[in-house]
Amino acid sequence: MKKIVFATNNQHKLDEIRSILGDMFEIVSLRDIGCHEDIPETGTTLEANARQKAEYIFEKYGLSCFADDTGLEVDALGGAPGVYSARYAGGEGHDSEANMQKLLCELGENNNRKARFRTVIALILSEVMSEEPCEVLFFEGIVNGNIAREKHGTEGFGYDPIFVPDGYDKSFAELGMDIKNNISHRARAVKKLAEYLREIDN
Ligand code: IMP
Repeated sequence: MKKIVFATNNQHKLDEIRSILGDMFEIVSLRDIGCHEDIPETGTTLEANARQKAEYIFEKYGLSCFADDTGLEVDALGGAPGVYSARYAGGEGHDSEANMQKLLCELGENNNRKARFRTVIALILSEVMSEEPCEVLFFEGIVNGNIAREKHGTEGFGYDPIFVPDGYDKSFAELGMDIKNNISHRARAVKKLAEYLREIDN
């Protein structure tokens, strides 16, 4: 079975992609290839960050790989927090409570609460890499929705308690993983990646 590196150690993301592609590819994590360093993410767009992570792995290990980056883009805030979603409230980042608090505060009573989660996956395949610079393919997944006025629900992570996807009247954190994993930004990007990999494998 062909091996492909997913540039993450996030078990949830690994499970998700293995459930879609596991019969075709051996999906290995950063830990599996002995990559323990922090990969730089200094881009100002999701595309740039995803590319940076994939190129880092390809250049260092010469293995086929893909990397993802996700942001929450809020219309009334000019697309913020976007690529800075993990560190929106500052500090070391990934403080979801502080991030949500800041977002609700910035939006205030604004009635335009339109937002979207956007995931970008960058893919580099070693067998098609005969030329420089390396070819990077991108796959995008979007879920549109609205920012609630307060937090609801306990499932999920990140901004899930304040994001209500279009077509539902509950937040991602209330809808639960089964529904979320079907309609989410990440699921949509992963499905596009899977379709592409299946096509070229045939
Ligand atoms: P990452 O690129 O997947 O690490 O995502 C960056 C940040 O976006 C995370 O730290 C979360 O704050 C937010 N985020 C990404 N995906 C989701 C999601 O599915 N639900 C809620 N927040 C998310």
